[in-house]
Amino acid sequence: MFIGHYAPAFIGKRIAKTVPLWVLFAAVQLVDIAWGVFIATGVEHVRIIEGFTASNSLDLYDMPWTHSLVMALVWSLGAGLVWAALARRDKTLGGIVVGAAVFSHWLTDLIVHVPDLLLYPGSDIKFGFGLWNNFPVAMGLELTIFLGSMAIYLTGTRARGGFGRVWPFIATALLLGLFYLGMTTPPPDDIAVAGYSAVVMYGVICAIAAGFDLTREAK
Ligand SMILES: [Zn+2]
Repeated sequence: MFIGHYAPAFIGKRIAKTVPLWVLFAAVQLVDIAWGVFIATGVEHVRIIEGFTASNSLDLYDMPWTHSLVMALVWSLGAGLVWAALARRDKTLGGIVVGAAVFSHWLTDLIVHVPDLLLYPGSDIKFGFGLWNNFPVAMGLELTIFLGSMAIYLTGTRARGGFGRVWPFIATALLLGLFYLGMTTPPPDDIAVAGYSAVVMYGVICAIAAGFDLTREAK
């Protein structure tokens, strides 16, 4: 999944108001940020096969350390504990929401991936409902949960100034633009370039989320 991953971040921000939205944006993509580094450094592997699913050409045949169920739980637990240790307020609630945000990545990937999500590294058991093979439904689902969750976030926050009123529109345009580019740009031939550019893109998206933190506050 792509843009739909941010839906749990928007919902999480309504639940744990002291966790910055950009932290939740990083949390929901934590295993994909690691995946970008891991495919660039050869720890995990991906093949580009034109038309592999109706939605993209990624054959994600080897990503046990970032996308197996057991490892997703380990990343979630680790991130939740790190947040609970670092946060000044609401340590328990913040830690639970950050951990849940990290784990939401696996659940949202489960819907769209073909069976390439292992139970644990080395396991023969694979999960994935394969919705990417139905392009209109997959894209409709991504957009619906993204826009719906942003509406839930916006109704729970208010603008600090004029910029806080326009930022949701600018951010939506930027995020949908990046989503469109991601869907239409063929992946680079060099896997290291693909991995690191994914990491850079997640950084840009976190900066867009930080724009919400700077310009809006909880009601
Ligand atoms: Zn993923």
